[in-house]
Amino acid sequence: MTNTFSFDLQNTDGKARTGVIHTPRGDIRTPAFMPVGTAATVKAMMPESVRETGADILLGNTYHLMLRPGAERIANLGGLHRFMNWDRPILTDSGGFQVMSLSELRKLTEKGVTFRSHIDGSKHFLSPETSMEIQRLLGSDIVMCFDECPALPADRTRLEESMRMSMRWAERSREAFGDRPGHALFGIQQGGLEEDLRAESAEALQNIGFDGYAVGGLAVGEGQQAMFDCLDFAPDQLPVDKPRYLMGVGKPDDIVGAVKRGIDMMDCVLPSRSGRTGQLFTRQGVVNIKNARHADDPRPLDEACRCPACRNYSRAYLHHVFRAQEMISGMLLTWHNLTYFQDIMQGMRDAIAAGTFAEWEAAFHAGRAQGDIEPL
Ligand SMILES: [Zn+2]
Repeated sequence: MTNTFSFDLQNTDGKARTGVIHTPRGDIRTPAFMPVGTAATVKAMMPESVRETGADILLGNTYHLMLRPGAERIANLGGLHRFMNWDRPILTDSGGFQVMSLSELRKLTEKGVTFRSHIDGSKHFLSPETSMEIQRLLGSDIVMCFDECPALPADRTRLEESMRMSMRWAERSREAFGDRPGHALFGIQQGGLEEDLRAESAEALQNIGFDGYAVGGLAVGEGQQAMFDCLDFAPDQLPVDKPRYLMGVGKPDDIVGAVKRGIDMMDCVLPSRSGRTGQLFTRQGVVNIKNARHADDPRPLDEACRCPACRNYSRAYLHHVFRAQEMISGMLLTWHNLTYFQDIMQGMRDAIAAGTFAEWEAAFHAGRAQGDIEPL
């Protein structure tokens, strides 16, 4: 254990990297996938089970938690780790992205954003300063700068103005965060898909100085190829010796493509949300458990998977509880998806360390191209 936050880069294979982020609450093996615990819970999962899937860190959403149950309340109850019974690292987002996507009647100025809660219409204000204060109250280990994330496509003038304001907000975030040993503050690169704007943003962030750097503003409607094209240059513009975090990504092949391009951390609601809607990610592609073909199938969902849904239950059972809308359905299917995502991360970490990432990637794509096993 350590009292400080640090990053050890351990192996590289092409642009792909492995390493360890050390925090006082435990190590984070990278590349890392962070399950999303929006409202102080990864939906349908006990924290112990999330840990069993292999997650070293969770993501919490500032926007949701400030509105309900409130950051002050969580602080009075001992902080988010204690509140939700997860003693390992937690990263919180700044609230900016969700204010833009969920709230109503937003008013954006240089000072910050005034908005109304999507829950009860109450009025709130978020700024670099208030976001840092809320994330401090939550007790987050990795705090994100408050920024603005424009939806794509957006015209260049809009992207440029937005990015420059986000860089001024990054400076205010750094100032407001202050000196908090053992806690990290990450800057967020913006600039849309424009290489020169991304470079300007990366330079501005490095002049301020952060413990890690996120590639923000992607996975907002641009499509996978455009995202990969941007990731061909964006991570290279960030410091080699600090963690690089791609926000809000993604599907299994997005994750593999991002790691290949030098990304160390990612988060997405996809494995948990898809688990609840019956969409499962497996080594042989996507399986929809709702499909009638599974109704009499005694075989496991994924023969090679170590999760309880695959070890202890048949496709027929998973199909039945999904159709009957039993609660165990969301639990088992989420457990499977989170396990599969973590196994992808472990597979990549091992392959990068062994210098065999290209072979691993080819096998990953070949398996998924096979499609699901033949119906009985
Ligand atoms: Zn499984």
